[in-house]
Amino acid sequence: MPLLHNRINTKELKEKMLAETEPRTTISFYRYFAIPDPQAFRDTLYERLQTLSVFGRIYVAHEGINAQVSVPASRFDALREALYAFPELTGMRLNIAVDDDGKSFWVLKIKVRSQIVADGIDDPTFNPADTGQYLKAAEYNALVQSSPDVVVVDMRNHYEYEVGHFDGALEVPSDTFKEQLPMAVDMLQAAKDKPVVMYCTGGIRCEKASAYFKHQGFQNVYHLEGGIIEYTRKAREENLPILFRGKNFVFDARMGERITDEVLAHCHQCGTPCDNHVNCTYDGCHLLFIQCPECAQAFDHCCSADCRDAKANNVPPPPKANTGNPVFNKSKSRLRPFRPAGSDADITP
Ligand SMILES: [Zn+2]
Ligand SMILES: [Zn+2]
Repeated sequence: MPLLHNRINTKELKEKMLAETEPRTTISFYRYFAIPDPQAFRDTLYERLQTLSVFGRIYVAHEGINAQVSVPASRFDALREALYAFPELTGMRLNIAVDDDGKSFWVLKIKVRSQIVADGIDDPTFNPADTGQYLKAAEYNALVQSSPDVVVVDMRNHYEYEVGHFDGALEVPSDTFKEQLPMAVDMLQAAKDKPVVMYCTGGIRCEKASAYFKHQGFQNVYHLEGGIIEYTRKAREENLPILFRGKNFVFDARMGERITDEVLAHCHQCGTPCDNHVNCTYDGCHLLFIQCPECAQAFDHCCSADCRDAKANNVPPPPKANTGNPVFNKSKSRLRPFRPAGSDADITP
């Protein structure tokens, strides 16, 4: 019986990873395809990847697979072969993360989920396979620069848009993809006959969103192939002008990869230009917000004086504290739960 889970504690595993001398490459990939038995698929995948010292997190559902992993650089080709050995994954694009030290993961977790992207769509006639047209980086630039009619929509959450987005892109102010889909359709009613171009981090959300827009009667729906990650890689490789500005928010310890030097966001506490997402360090809070180094010092890495004082006085978290990283949302008076990758709801590569 092969070992299908890790048996060593995470602290030891992290130390082990940090002691590695070989550099790691961080890769994300996804594919929508029917998996009749997600648990069996998961177990086979775990066995194959574990022997290659792959770390990271992977979600497997009836509708497909979504992964963010790191692999020792010398084993990248072996990883690709291991994945392509599944006939359904042959030829799948592997997005290599830019600006990454490969130290975001120190354990391999593969989980079975009900969906790889929670969409909340309750319409049996919706066909997610009927997606919009893919745009490569050069095609994206050509299309948005050629026609003033083109509407560009950011299909990510508000805290992702806040630190970086494409020039002229429309923000749909939501916290989850589920909430965003109907909102975006409402906002774009007047653009039904115009070319609508959507993008997200790695392309997985737009795969569904573009199909949903078509389902809602939009005529010319495009989506950026491989998302911001692949766009940036291609644009750099082909020396194209990069029309994305700022930071690309990513769901791991880095919380963002810098694409251009521009800082679009502001510290939520003092308003100084800053685009560093952090979590409040008080255990009863863990709010996700943007904080500048000065405020980090003044508030002892907390989101507020209250949290700072509670932390200093060792006030235990309230019994039912929401420690699931709520999002600091200036546009709404209430705190909304932020679910980091690894949770059920809204996951993204
Ligand atoms: Zn500040
Ligand atoms: Zn706090």
